[in-house]
Amino acid sequence: MQLAKNDILARLVETDPARLEELWLAADSLRRQYLGDAIHLRGLVEISNICVRSCAYCGLRTGRSDLKRYRMTLPEILEAARRIASHSFGTIVLQSGEDQGITQSWLAQVIARIKTETGLAITLSLGERSHSDLEGWRIAGADRYLLRFETSDRTLFGCIHPPRPGQTSDRFKTLEWLGQMGYEVGTGIMVGIPGQTYTSLADDIGLFRDLDVDMVGIGPFLPHPATPLGSAHHPSGPDQVPNSETMTLKVLALTRLNCPTINIPSTTALATISDVSREHGLKAGANVIMPNFTPRQYRLLYDIYPSKTDVDENDELFPDVIKARIHSMGRTVGQGPGRRPRHRS
Ligand code: SF4
Repeated sequence: MQLAKNDILARLVETDPARLEELWLAADSLRRQYLGDAIHLRGLVEISNICVRSCAYCGLRTGRSDLKRYRMTLPEILEAARRIASHSFGTIVLQSGEDQGITQSWLAQVIARIKTETGLAITLSLGERSHSDLEGWRIAGADRYLLRFETSDRTLFGCIHPPRPGQTSDRFKTLEWLGQMGYEVGTGIMVGIPGQTYTSLADDIGLFRDLDVDMVGIGPFLPHPATPLGSAHHPSGPDQVPNSETMTLKVLALTRLNCPTINIPSTTALATISDVSREHGLKAGANVIMPNFTPRQYRLLYDIYPSKTDVDENDELFPDVIKARIHSMGRTVGQGPGRRPRHRS
């Protein structure tokens, strides 16, 4: 099903509870039809909080002098990978700020060791990197790459993602490269960015389909007090998209309707809103959860948005707890790497 922009817009502004319930059920039904009941678990490891960029919403932005920075060592990453494999997860996600100290050769070595020692599928989420870095990591064995464009509104994008001095960036070009290199490609957006309109949000949802990406992550904008967007006065007119759970679920469900076969996580950002928000995401079209396996001493330092470490995903027992919750929802725990169907061989 391809939704017309007017249909998307109408559902984004829908407030009738019965109509919203229909939307969640339609997305859930399409998820079951194309992907079954499996929920895939991906183990997240935040390997570095060093970043050269100054995104206006992010607590890892460069120049934040009160934040202690870290980069995990190869043995620390391998230990986390072994823990993820011991829980029978199929994928490790290596995430970091845009850390130029993560060199092509060092990360290629990390990727090769994880592959040899655990067989896990490897997802990278390391920001905007050069063509040659991305190519080298793909050759080393990386399977997927996540690069969120956050908003398709070019003006808003430019305001919240100032380029590095003397450099330009084009995330859409990078997403194209990633597909050409044979990565499974993921992207995503924030919902409720100050200045984000319903029209631009509808464009985002259409763009997921046009770009033909394999994974989309959707989370609410969470204001961080140590950032320009977290402390600024925000617009509140009728065009301003709210950063609520309901609005995030609408975007998630509409994304499922527009892109039936892709992987969609119920994100940690969504889970910060309430104890049941993650489950609501899983009932509105999501089929992936990414429990956090970052060593405890680093988790507080990966301070991208507030309350992240309050989420139960940080509990040591969470990998077992979430499996029990998945079964109690009548769903199953996904086996293997959980690729999008067209990437399964
Ligand atoms: S969003 Fe990513 S690139 Fe931007 S400041 Fe945060 S970690 Fe760095």
